[in-house]
Amino acid sequence: MQPQPPRRRIRPPRVAALASVTALTFALSTSAGTGHLSPSTTAGAGPISLGRVPAALGPCMISGDGSIQMSEGVPTISGYSRSTGTVHALTLMVDFSDAPGPGNAMDRFHEFFPQTQKWFRTSSYGRLDYRPETPITHWLRMPKPFKAYGIERGAPFDPGYRDLVQDIVAGADPAVDFRSYDLLNVLVTPNAGPSALDTVLSVTFAGNKDAPVADGVPVANASFVYSRQDDGSGSYDRTGYRVLPHENGHVFGLPDLYTQEGGGAVGHWDIMSEDWGADNDLLGWHKWKLGWLDASQVSCAAHRGTNEYELTPLARAGGPKLVFVPLSRRSGYAVELRTRGGNDEAVCRPGVLIYRIDASVDTGMGPVTVYDSRRDSGGCTRSPNVQAELSDAPFVPGEVFKDPKHGIQIAIASADLSGHYRIRVTRQ
Ligand SMILES: [Zn+2]
Repeated sequence: MQPQPPRRRIRPPRVAALASVTALTFALSTSAGTGHLSPSTTAGAGPISLGRVPAALGPCMISGDGSIQMSEGVPTISGYSRSTGTVHALTLMVDFSDAPGPGNAMDRFHEFFPQTQKWFRTSSYGRLDYRPETPITHWLRMPKPFKAYGIERGAPFDPGYRDLVQDIVAGADPAVDFRSYDLLNVLVTPNAGPSALDTVLSVTFAGNKDAPVADGVPVANASFVYSRQDDGSGSYDRTGYRVLPHENGHVFGLPDLYTQEGGGAVGHWDIMSEDWGADNDLLGWHKWKLGWLDASQVSCAAHRGTNEYELTPLARAGGPKLVFVPLSRRSGYAVELRTRGGNDEAVCRPGVLIYRIDASVDTGMGPVTVYDSRRDSGGCTRSPNVQAELSDAPFVPGEVFKDPKHGIQIAIASADLSGHYRIRVTRQ
């Protein structure tokens, strides 16, 4: 067998841009009364509909403190886009005089749709009805050349974005009623800026209280996609769209799980960790956070003693999906069953994934850490752009995860023929 080529760091962090979103303070006014994002859709219902949360789940609703930009806490704070029901995504294709859009703007749109829509339908078990809408079907030409906006990787929320968003809103204003949309996708012509192999410019401004304002309403949740995430592995046609569900994950309030070191903390177990390569899903924790799991599908292992829980594959709708073992009001262990299916196409060792969540750790700083049942094994995948080491992280029947410091053991007790697992959680 061929040895694997050295793995390039596949996701240059865009944390710097995200982290400085709150530094934005600009107002944007447009001439007519048509251009704005409505507070009733972006902030009204809140990002999630957890429904009535039974008291038993209380100890598992961890939260960060106020200093966290984007937290893993449940429930998600207000200001992000709704993540259940019908979500209308205003999708604009923009180009520049020094980077004219090649061909038809709708070809750029179809790099991402209907795949992104389908990805959300599958991952949410049908709870998120994502509607991309294109009231403008041609390239929206920006008044200045791309270079003039000075958009660069890693720059603190570049002042150029002020101009760019202002120009996008002004340009779209005559044709767009912004009140009809929950979030904004800006699909920038792929020839603007560097190749994604060199620099990933794609970025999202989410839950941004100081967002650009049109007609008094903030454009608070906007995803910008640049370039094409094509690494030459030949998978671009199938997987290149995945940057958009990642960026939209931010508008729904999910933090980045990759760090300065890349995807080593979570590997390919969540699209907020790795959005290149084979299709992948979200962690069960994220599905709960987004309102895609019922309270009845989540168990909170807060009590002393030994308790047994059933888990059904996360990729399948229905049944128990997530057990959370709280360590504090800010952190705990999440336990779920991952198999190949649904959006998870690269799972090579099905089993029980155990990861630690810390709601006091910010986006891009490693709020989630997956525990590897087989450390330094090299992993079981050879799929391009899939972090290999953690690909065999899941625990299988007979294996036990131990945290002696907190007196916690999670034993994988059994798996039956229908694919259901039983786990046994012991707290001293
Ligand atoms: Zn991100």
